[in-house]
Parts: sequence; C-alpha cells; structure tokens
Amino acid sequence: MSVIYKSPREIEKMRAAGKVVAGALALAAGKIQPGLTTGQLDAEIETFILSRGGVPTFKGYRSFPASACISVNEEVVHGIPGRRELKEGDIITVDVGVTLDGYIGDSAWTYPVGRISSRAQRLLKATKDSLFMGIEQVKPGNRLSEVSRAVQTYAEANGYAIVRKYAGHGLGRELHEEPQVPNYVDRMTPGNDLVMKPGLVIAIEPMLNEGTYDVKTLSDHWTVVTRDGKLSAHFEHTVAVTEKGREILTVE
Ligand code: MG
Ligand code: MG
Repeated sequence: MSVIYKSPREIEKMRAAGKVVAGALALAAGKIQPGLTTGQLDAEIETFILSRGGVPTFKGYRSFPASACISVNEEVVHGIPGRRELKEGDIITVDVGVTLDGYIGDSAWTYPVGRISSRAQRLLKATKDSLFMGIEQVKPGNRLSEVSRAVQTYAEANGYAIVRKYAGHGLGRELHEEPQVPNYVDRMTPGNDLVMKPGLVIAIEPMLNEGTYDVKTLSDHWTVVTRDGKLSAHFEHTVAVTEKGREILTVE
C-alpha cells in the first residue's frame, strides 16, 4: 500500500466530512454531564451525523457496534458506548468518524464531566497542546518525524507517557491509509519517514497517559485501557498539507 494524495476536489469533500465530525463533537460537548450514559451520547451523535447526510464511519468497522468510540478515565481508545453513567470528575474521550460523499473525517476530544481534578485538567491541556505542537509541523518539505518529535517532546517534557501501540494515520476514502503517524520517533526509520507534500491528509492523534505508556485490551475485544489504571487522554484532528502549510479539516 502506498500514500494516496488527494486532489483539491477530494480535500473539499474531506472538509465537508470534517465539518460534520466537528459538529457532532460540539453537540457531544454540550450534552456531557453527570448522569448521562455513554450509550445515550452515542445515540445523539449518530442522529446528528445521519441528519447531516453522513454515515458514522466506525459503526460496523471491523464489527464495532456503535457510532462513536467513547472512552472514560483509564480507557485510552475504542471504548464501546453503553449503560455506563458519567459522573462528576470523569474525563471522557469522544472519537468520531464521518463518511460523507465517500470521504472521511476523523477527530477526537477529551472532555471534563463537571468539575475535574487539577491533575486531570493538566493532562487534558497537555494532550491537546501536544496535538497542536504536532499540527504546527505539518507543511510541505517537513518530514513526518518532525510531527512525531514535536508531539513526543512536548508530552514528555510535561511528564506524560505517549501510548505507542496506536498511531495516527493517513485517511481519505478509507479510515486507515498510509502513512502511519506515530506519536514518538524512537522507531521511526528513513523508510517510513516521508517528506510531506500538498495533498497528503493525515489524522494526528496523540494519546497521553499519566503513568506507564503500556496498555491492554479488555475482554470485549475493543476497549483499550492503561495497564496501571491511571488516566489517559486523546485529542485528534484530520489535517491536510496545503501549498503554504496546513489546513485542519475537522472544524466547523
Ligand atoms: Mg479517531
Ligand atoms: Mg484516527
């Protein structure tokens, strides 16, 4: 498999898909409160996506049963929405993919439920900031490893561990295309460190843990949690390389 560069017309479609993703996340942000179940939140997100003519990309992807991945506290990614009730002080990651007119947008955000601890606040801020440090490195002529390095340097300087098992990715007609976009550089080889050029579209998605970077998957075969049970946060945007720099596609 090789990198599929997108034409301006294709990026226009991805921008439209990204707008629906951002709208779904904004809707979610407004609904999140103690007492709401993750299943109820997923239903709201699905209704919104369908009302905009989109398809929830994750539903049915390798048999994933819901429209959004919803991961609470020590859950890192791929949480399955259900009967779990949110409570004051939780942090909740909502990861949404939308396919619109054949093209995909993918974005995730970690939100506070009511008032959260200052430790959790610090984790959320650092994870979000690490995403934007990575996004700043997206421009023609830069290598992908500069994105990875910016994310890793910022995260580690703030005392957090980067989840290594999961990475960002190219996307377009498919949710996961080449290249992989790791959030750390340790194992980056010249072979997978491509020079960015216009038309490349990638999802950058740092996952930061309070404790160890190590994770495990629960017996539901989806939910990934931190091995030490400490908190994890995850922020993601879909970003296109343009002639002059970058454009974040998953915005309203
Ligand atoms: Mg995602
Ligand atoms: Mg993704």
